[in-house]
Amino acid sequence: MKTYLRLLGFAKPIEKYAIPYFFFILIYAVFNTVVFVMLIPLLETLFNSSGMIEVVTRPPVFEFSMDYVQKLVNYWLYQLYGSEYDMMGILMLLSALIVASALLSNTFRYLAQRTMEGFRIHTLKRMRNTVFSNVMRLHTGFFSNEKKGDIISKITSDVQVVQFCITNTLQVAFREPFLIAGYLFALLKISIELTLFTVVVLPVSALVIGFIVKTLRKSAKEAQESFGDMVSLIDEALGGIKILKGYNAVDYIIRKFFNENDRYSRISKSMANRQQLASPASEFMGIAAVAVLLIYGGGMVMGGKINASEFITYLAIFSQITRPARQLADSFSTINQGIAAGERVLSLVDTKSEIVNKDNALMLDQFRENIEFHNVSFAYESKGVIHNISFVIHKGETVALVGPSGGGKSTISDLILRFYDVSEGEILIDGVNIKDYNIESVRSHMGIVSQDTVLFNDTIENNIRLGNTEATTAQVMNAAKIANAHEFILDTKDGYQTNTGDRGMKLSGGQRQRISIARAVLKNPDILILDEATSALDTESEKLVQDALNNLLKGRTSLVIAHRLSTILHADKIMVIEDGSIVESGTHNELLALEGVYKKLIDMQHIGSHKND
Ligand code: ADP
Repeated sequence: MKTYLRLLGFAKPIEKYAIPYFFFILIYAVFNTVVFVMLIPLLETLFNSSGMIEVVTRPPVFEFSMDYVQKLVNYWLYQLYGSEYDMMGILMLLSALIVASALLSNTFRYLAQRTMEGFRIHTLKRMRNTVFSNVMRLHTGFFSNEKKGDIISKITSDVQVVQFCITNTLQVAFREPFLIAGYLFALLKISIELTLFTVVVLPVSALVIGFIVKTLRKSAKEAQESFGDMVSLIDEALGGIKILKGYNAVDYIIRKFFNENDRYSRISKSMANRQQLASPASEFMGIAAVAVLLIYGGGMVMGGKINASEFITYLAIFSQITRPARQLADSFSTINQGIAAGERVLSLVDTKSEIVNKDNALMLDQFRENIEFHNVSFAYESKGVIHNISFVIHKGETVALVGPSGGGKSTISDLILRFYDVSEGEILIDGVNIKDYNIESVRSHMGIVSQDTVLFNDTIENNIRLGNTEATTAQVMNAAKIANAHEFILDTKDGYQTNTGDRGMKLSGGQRQRISIARAVLKNPDILILDEATSALDTESEKLVQDALNNLLKGRTSLVIAHRLSTILHADKIMVIEDGSIVESGTHNELLALEGVYKKLIDMQHIGSHKND
């Protein structure tokens, strides 16, 4: 219930939809009943063989009874046809009444439905927006533990399931109880004893349905999880399409997909089976209840407690009551599915970012002096990755990190960007702990150029503009020129308006890198974090990229994760990182003189470059 109410909370402002809906449904119900109530006296008149119908010459006094309605209809008939009954006339009146009522009741039903649709779509939109923005604001660590497909399926399909169930239950909850109450009122009027008996019998069927519903909830959760796995797989398959084809592994991934799809279908099927069971089961229980009533009520008739015609009417109304009751039961079986999906969606909304701004966090207006690591250690969950590292990057310096992969270089740069918080020690910017600053203000001074150049499916101009959304087109072009990208951009089909394709697929590796450099140039950050590309570029584009990088580094403070040692010969400081510790540190020449790890790395790269020659 708590989950349900929270989910309903997304429906704000609920009254904007609920009030008109209620109003429309009420009118719909009235006209629906009018036609039902009017039919009885008209039919009575029509089929009255004796023709001995009471002639009513004056409008009857209102009272809440069938007798009043009968009199009213007879009065109208008198007005229309006098005391002589014209059968054809009555037939026509009957048809006109049915048509008019049906038109009105259906119009209002449509209006009610429209309101409900509007409500559903509005809520769906709000829910998607909330979930997506919450997910985007989560700390980066969250994403290494969550499956992407799972998140996608929560934002897309689960949200949809939730909404469908909520509106469905609301719809039923607004409509059916009125009908049930009305019928129950009529039943009580006929016989209190029989109705009390009914009230005892009905919960038995409710229990049976309740049992089915409970087992449904579990499989709904399983089904949604399995769906998430499937989306993950699709995402991976599309992302790695070239590798899959290159390795002739298409069949492998297809088989994997078949298995996943099979699992999902199996769970869905067993769920559907149980869901479908709810309706026939409740119908059967309804009929069984009628049978029990037949015995009990029949006994009452024989005992003279009620007369036969009352009993028949009672049974007729009772069979009417089972429809809205069944609708209620059915919607309970979907509500559980909705709540299972809802819990998954809410789990995303409830996940709090582990890295948040402190109350009254400081704004880093200007980077003035240095960034200092002071005895910093860091662990991903339990895995220690950085061990007691201390160093300083002074403003304007270029500091390079080198060393074997897996040593912890990327982790150090992630710590500066505050993608993670240190486990021990502290990182100081201008002497203040990075945790005391507003995160966005820190990041606003930083630029990243990473080895996996991230381009979005958008125009080249917009991809560059990511660095500074306010920039003018002239500024964008200027940045592209500094990044050696202007020329090739002009050569593309639509110049700056060319679409880069999914993940920048339509561009070469070197071109992608130069665009991401242009992005950093446009942002013009004080501090630059550069994760140098390892991917082999041809000499021509490597030179272009290198020149672009040199332009970018000029006059900035930078931390460079270097893979090609030739690029950092002039760094102010080079730190060799191995197993999360700084094993050597100094300038190129100092390190060479040490004849240690750095020297070995340099020698290895020389061998590498000879081989390439
Ligand atoms: P480098 O950049 O020097 O190649 P990294 O900083 O990427 O090294 O990785 C350092 C260590 O941390 C590696 O052993 C890697 O397996 C581990 N690691 C990196 N990212 C994560 C993560 N998100 N969760 C757990 N371990 C990680």
